Amino acid sequence: MKENYLITPIDYLKGVGPNRADLLKSELKIFTYNDLLNYFPFRYIDRSKYHKINELENNNSEVQIIGKFINLKFSDNFKSKRLVGIFSDGNDEIEIVWFRAIKWIEKSIKLNEDYVIYGKVNWFNDRCSIVHPETELLTKHKKNIKSSMLPIYNSTEALSSKGITNKLIREFVFNIFEKSSNSFKENLNRKINEKYGMITKFEALYNVHFPKNQVLLAKAQFRLKYEEFFFIQLQFLFKNISNKNKFKGFKFSKVGYYFNSFYNKHLEFKLTNAQKKVIKDIRKDFSSNAQMNRLLQGDVGSGKTIVALLSSLIAIDNNFQTCLIAPTEILAQQHYNSINESLSKINLNVRILTGSTSKKEREILSCELKNGFTNMLIGTHAVLEDNVIFNNLGLAIIDEQHRFGVAQRSKLWKKNITPPHILVMTATPIPRTLAMSVYGDLDISIIDELPPGRKIVKTVHRTDRNRLEVFKFIRNEISKGRQIYVVYPLIEESKVMDYKDLMDGYESIQREFPIDKYQISILHGKMKPVDKVIEMDRFKNGQTQIMVSTTVIEVGVNISNASVMIIESSERFGLSQLHQLRGRVGRGSESSYCILMSKDKISNEARTRIKTMTSTNDGFKISEVDMELRGPGNLLGTQQSGLLNFKIADLIRDKDILELARKDAKDLINTDPGLKNNENKGIKEEYYVLNKNSILWKYIS
Ligand code: ADP
Ligand code: MG
Repeated sequence: MKENYLITPIDYLKGVGPNRADLLKSELKIFTYNDLLNYFPFRYIDRSKYHKINELENNNSEVQIIGKFINLKFSDNFKSKRLVGIFSDGNDEIEIVWFRAIKWIEKSIKLNEDYVIYGKVNWFNDRCSIVHPETELLTKHKKNIKSSMLPIYNSTEALSSKGITNKLIREFVFNIFEKSSNSFKENLNRKINEKYGMITKFEALYNVHFPKNQVLLAKAQFRLKYEEFFFIQLQFLFKNISNKNKFKGFKFSKVGYYFNSFYNKHLEFKLTNAQKKVIKDIRKDFSSNAQMNRLLQGDVGSGKTIVALLSSLIAIDNNFQTCLIAPTEILAQQHYNSINESLSKINLNVRILTGSTSKKEREILSCELKNGFTNMLIGTHAVLEDNVIFNNLGLAIIDEQHRFGVAQRSKLWKKNITPPHILVMTATPIPRTLAMSVYGDLDISIIDELPPGRKIVKTVHRTDRNRLEVFKFIRNEISKGRQIYVVYPLIEESKVMDYKDLMDGYESIQREFPIDKYQISILHGKMKPVDKVIEMDRFKNGQTQIMVSTTVIEVGVNISNASVMIIESSERFGLSQLHQLRGRVGRGSESSYCILMSKDKISNEARTRIKTMTSTNDGFKISEVDMELRGPGNLLGTQQSGLLNFKIADLIRDKDILELARKDAKDLINTDPGLKNNENKGIKEEYYVLNKNSILWKYIS
């Protein structure tokens, strides 16, 4: 058999024909034999079992029955015509109903011959029936049985209405195998095959469709999942290497005056070891001739900002400009305030650019940026606009990466002819496996240690019944000089209601905390940016004791005297949001608290979220739970989800396989970077085919 048999267009497969071929292409993106073989069943049914009609249960299950059709007739006492058969297993009878293609079915079914039927049992008033079962003559069934586990494929409305049933797909797949057993090329190397005791490529594909037994099915699935991860990781790693070769980076060869004088004279604390390690990683990138693309993961409050600042100083020491981009105006302003204060001590020029920067200010800023007077620009998305032109941007840092898309990352690349070094930072950790699958082309650094002396934020769950007690607690904390956040949800689709909740909440807090003794701030998205800044400042300066707000304060806000975070309707927040919000407190030396308010009755999922929050402060652990609850795609928003459409692998269930595959892919690249070794020929060939058709490049910059 020719080796390109598997890339034969699907049109040529026995039983397919032009109409069905079009459907397979449009509905399932199946263009070739190989595509069909890689269309995997999503579950299997035990076919070794045959049911007796009198044992059928009302539990929605699929059943397989041996028996005879003893009667078959058309009936049109309902809206539409249908075909009704009576099927008997010798003792009892069940009604079988068809709605589609009924003339053809009536002709093809033979009365009083042994059949095997298979389908889902419907119950109505204690009577059961099966609609559109699979039917097969017993003699044919015995001959055809390829496996005691029947593969079930995902189908679509269009496919099933056009008669492309599971049974038909099984036949198509089988037809390919009949002629192709020696068309399968091994696509891994001997070392990997031996390490995991892999079955061959052919055996793996065959058994995933028609498992001979559970053991072979497990081996088949392992191999195919492994391959899927392995080749994606290989693409990421090659992409990473090729970026480094293709994009020469600015070389920052020295650590000079600005870094040293800030580090030695003005840094108010000792860096944690984790922070030092990350700065080392970054310095290594800076001095390597290649452009840096690094993801910095660290929990809330782990001190990512200072890493950003120190990295910037190295760039500035080498006569380059830097920028820091944050997802919200408040956060940009806050970064600006603290960084400007730090850098003015060593005479550096820092500017801010956001949506509310006036035209006049912009003009001055533009000029200063272009002639290189500005050393560091801090801002929001506004910085990405084309008319923002630097003299020589050497380093771009994105804070809270998840709020930005990949497109924005690539915009930064284009700010210079030589792309700047890029450091992206996450707001809350994302699971390792997810980082590997979505940011696999980036180098990753992790801060896995909090600054010393941080106390965990004591977190409790309370309901409306406890409100008086909560108020009392607030009063008590304020009397000790602490400040309080009260946060309300604001979710796009129910904006009006949420806004009302916020205002009602504000009023009730004002009643409880009268104006002659307490000052209350309020902050929400409808306010003008300047007003937001003013309110934020009043709270920061201690003029107000309570800050009532929506999630605009979610990311990054840093006020160390605030020690209580009350989250209203906490059942409506996602885990990473809750963790982010909680991260706003526990920043000072005082004991801090987070109170999750909710209704009495909440969903199981909400309960799991709240329980997770009350049982751990570890953002990495929380992100794992979050991924299990919401699925990997939803964790990051939709931008990158194209990368998460695995055919057979699953990021949550198969994360161990991913770890193995990534490690093996790395080892391979280290030992045979050009895949020149004959041993790796199969990998190389597969890699080139995949690479040509890859969606990966659409999603990573
Ligand atoms: P995040 O990683 O969430 O962005 P930040 O960078 O805002 O955290 O840091 C949180 C707080 O911790 C800031 O007030 C910062 O000054 C402080 N901080 C950072 N690193 C250290 C350290 N090594 N020792 C003590 N405090 C630190
Ligand atoms: Mg931060």
